[in-house]
Amino acid sequence: MLEPIMTEGECALLRSLFHESQMVVLCCHQNPDGDALGSMLGMAEYLRQQGRETVMVVPDQYPDYLQWLPNSDKLVRYDKRKDYVDTLLKMCDLIICLDFNTLSRTDQMEAALSASPARKILIDHHPNPDIDTVLCISHPEASSASELVFRVVWQLGGFEESGKHFAIPVYTGMMTDTGGFTYNSSNCDIYYIISQLLTKHIDKDKIYRNVYHNYSEHRLRLVGHVLCNRLVVDSARHAAYYTLTRDDLKQYHFIKGDAEGLVNMPLQIKGLKLSISLREDTDHANLIWVSLRSVDNFPCNEVASRFFNGGGHLNASGGKLNCSMDEAVKIVEKAFVAFEDALK
Ligand code: 5GP
Ligand code: MN
Repeated sequence: MLEPIMTEGECALLRSLFHESQMVVLCCHQNPDGDALGSMLGMAEYLRQQGRETVMVVPDQYPDYLQWLPNSDKLVRYDKRKDYVDTLLKMCDLIICLDFNTLSRTDQMEAALSASPARKILIDHHPNPDIDTVLCISHPEASSASELVFRVVWQLGGFEESGKHFAIPVYTGMMTDTGGFTYNSSNCDIYYIISQLLTKHIDKDKIYRNVYHNYSEHRLRLVGHVLCNRLVVDSARHAAYYTLTRDDLKQYHFIKGDAEGLVNMPLQIKGLKLSISLREDTDHANLIWVSLRSVDNFPCNEVASRFFNGGGHLNASGGKLNCSMDEAVKIVEKAFVAFEDALK
């Protein structure tokens, strides 16, 4: 049986918030991943079952490899429909923030979200949430925001009547945020939740293939190129980084999502504790997206916040830099030195 994640008071508050709200807007972070979309689609499905009107908003494009998710065609892109979403945020009753802890993670949506008079709920697993909410369901120990959506719906008694359109996105979010249940996934509750999701007759093997075996030939060759030509391993410090320039991205016909999972690969090297990806933006000069992954108790989120204007989880973080690739590499080298004791 699952431990409740909300107190009875919180549960009652959530029920009444849902009951009083006719129009609910759900939103997630910029560059949405499987967990951002999974938690939003799962929560929206529950609310629709309850007769609420829902609109799911993503700040920008979501990756091709997630386009098979049921109801993903209903996602509204803020960067494409700003005026519509701005109006919606002014008139909706409730906003549910999923898979992010601070409004700046929604990038261009930040101003409209903070100006909205609607009450806000947060359901998230990043540490230190700082959003002004009437209910904050924040559990950094959870595998994913999707796991939290499951637990919320479970505690509200809504799981029984839910179907595949709830179970598929929730399973997908839990799977993608744990690298297919290979990290941050040792809590036995996760497998109880999966066993419950499977009662909805979802094909988990097909979900795996849809996510991880759904790339173009270009992506596979891009991985080969990075591992062969772009990876720099600092064996003494147990750390590695690689660069992806706009020329590389162009050469391999890069589309959003093609770099997914790549930053985990250097951690396959025995003893390696930290891996950093530096990827130039495809459109904007001097914008570099940074992804960090670590193992055991090495805090890559501290590296992200100290050196890369970012943050995240202990073992999976991100950030961005406004500089050239050469300068970014120098920052990485500095970070390796600054953390060399912790990397030992
Ligand atoms: P990814 O490398 O997949 O983009 O991000 C890994 C993790 O770090 C995700 O859980 C994401 O939410 C978090 N993250 C990515 N970028 C940022 C950022 O700029 N700021 C913060 N606080 N977290 C980030
Ligand atoms: Mn997440």
